[in-house]
Amino acid sequence: MTPDVRPLIAGNWKMNGTLREAAALAEGVRAGLEGVRGADLLICPTFLHLHVAAASMGWKPVAIGGQDCSAEANGAHTGDVSAAMLADAGCGYVILGHSERRADHGESDALVQAKARAAIAAGLIPIVCVGETEAQRDSGEAEAVVAAQLAGSLPPDFAGAKGVVAYEPVWAIGTGRTPTNDDIAAMHGRMRAELAGRFPGAGETTRLLYGGSVKPSNAAAILALPNVDGALVGGASLKAEDFLAIAAAV
Ligand code: PGA
Repeated sequence: MTPDVRPLIAGNWKMNGTLREAAALAEGVRAGLEGVRGADLLICPTFLHLHVAAASMGWKPVAIGGQDCSAEANGAHTGDVSAAMLADAGCGYVILGHSERRADHGESDALVQAKARAAIAAGLIPIVCVGETEAQRDSGEAEAVVAAQLAGSLPPDFAGAKGVVAYEPVWAIGTGRTPTNDDIAAMHGRMRAELAGRFPGAGETTRLLYGGSVKPSNAAAILALPNVDGALVGGASLKAEDFLAIAAAV
């Protein structure tokens, strides 16, 4: 953790579930909130499930976020959802540049940066994801890859707008495998140095989340590492009990 930074535990529900299941999951999280004192909570359902999840939650106690937004403000962009629409629907955050979007939709650092600008303009906090592939880690390039993604994906006002960075090694997402705690700490230290260098006065306290196979059994050790200010949780966020256990591990 970083001194004076309140951790954020974010659930990335990805493309899962029905309206009824989203409502029940949100309600399950709300019902167990008393055990969580040391962290802010965020859930990120699909666009279609945002409203029902927020309503089940009672709108306030847990923040709501989107999993993507358009870089455009509005208009003729069939199938897209704007940052302003997310804000209007009750979102406070939006996940951007997740590796699944970078891989499935060819999203570049430049596009992620444009989306982050749109998010900030709409009053949302962007959570920009970065992370190396297994081949890049094996060839010793992981830190350089992540530094380049940060340089390309974060707009100039990112840290001042309280933007969040999520380090998610691609090979750790949904696989049950994680880097060693030393490797996570080393990467987060490198990211902190990059951010503090580029955004003096703000980058020192930018929240840096770790994501990739976080579960109740490894959460406490990961969340205790220096410069780890929370987690972005995929699979384990689909069970209220597991998500709450991770949040309670802070
Ligand atoms: P996982 O996913 O927790 O299922 O590994 C994390 C993510 O992709 O955000």
